[in-house]
Amino acid sequence: MSYRVPFVNAKAQYGRLKSEIDAAIIGCLSRGDLIDRADLRSFEEHFASFVGTKFAVGVNSGYHALHFSLQAAGIGSGDEVITSGHTFVATVSAIVNVGARPVLVDVEDDYNLRPNAVEAAINPRTRAIIPVSLNGRVCKMEDIMEIARKHNLVVIEDSAQALGADYGTKRAGALGDAAAFSFYPFKILGGIGDGGAVTTNDSEIARAVRLLRYNGEDRATGEYHFHGQTALMDNLQAGVLDVKLRYVDSWIEHRRKIANLYRARLNEIAEIRLPHFDESNQRDIFQNYVIRAAERDLLRARLEANGVETLVHWPRPMWRHAGLGLADPQLPNTERLYREVLSLPMSSETTEGHVEIVSESIRAFYQPFRARAAHP
Ligand SMILES: *Cc1c(COP(=O)(O)O)cnc(C)c1O
Repeated sequence: MSYRVPFVNAKAQYGRLKSEIDAAIIGCLSRGDLIDRADLRSFEEHFASFVGTKFAVGVNSGYHALHFSLQAAGIGSGDEVITSGHTFVATVSAIVNVGARPVLVDVEDDYNLRPNAVEAAINPRTRAIIPVSLNGRVCKMEDIMEIARKHNLVVIEDSAQALGADYGTKRAGALGDAAAFSFYPFKILGGIGDGGAVTTNDSEIARAVRLLRYNGEDRATGEYHFHGQTALMDNLQAGVLDVKLRYVDSWIEHRRKIANLYRARLNEIAEIRLPHFDESNQRDIFQNYVIRAAERDLLRARLEANGVETLVHWPRPMWRHAGLGLADPQLPNTERLYREVLSLPMSSETTEGHVEIVSESIRAFYQPFRARAAHP
């Protein structure tokens, strides 16, 4: 089905960058540079400088960036890792797959970890915290780092949705011991397939991730230091991401502009809540523009009928998927979010005209409610 307002539009973005992206791909192919070549090193250097860390290590997904960060920090069997109950399943799968136990805690109204809940979940087995900076907004990292230092815990930021988000004078991914980024095509910096990176200022973590992604081999000496995986970022992928990285600042500005247009047009509708939160110490990049509505499913169906593509991140809590084997952590705020959240179209291709169509549809949906309230 083709939408009047698509959620994202990868084809249109490629159209705008075609000559540069084609040149990067053809360059790699005609030089025969496919695995661990100059394009990867160049992207890693530029990405580290964008985030503001000493190191960036390219891997083949955000999932692997999380998995390897945990392993590099020495997290494994018998350890507990605290993270958000409201996140993509990959955050939790990485914890489970390194042999540790995920401890899920509740979030605040801005969709991010509640520092009090983190502190309350700490016990002698706790080794790490993964604060997930969801939808483009950084967690309360000052509080989380203070708790972590007090209890001697490792902090690995899940920055998959927060590339470029400011927190004080730093950016997401430069605030903990290490951070994981995703270049899944619909993330703000989206590749031509899966990709991810670990950022850190810790040379030991960076080195361990470089070995883990390449079967445990130190490429300079040929020594295998442990059993790793085959999970390098493709050189071709790095070449394309290096091109796109140059546009990320302008895409962030565009997203902020679109968010403000949504705000101006939807602010007066009392039945929905908009994702604009305190920005005194940080700035959101609006990876997702997530509204909350009690009658979410009906609203979504109306938008769909009007040609507006929306998404629900995520329709059902992880612990309701029996195969994942997670106990119900009893998180009231998170449970409510799963029922109420709706992500509106938001990308570097979203236009003012799109915002107009989406906003009109939402206004029309709530009109009858309003009419009934006025004439009971
Ligand atoms: C996208 C995402 C990931 C995983 O990234 P992949 O590249 O798809 O493996 C992890 N955490 C969060 C919060 C994400 O949004």
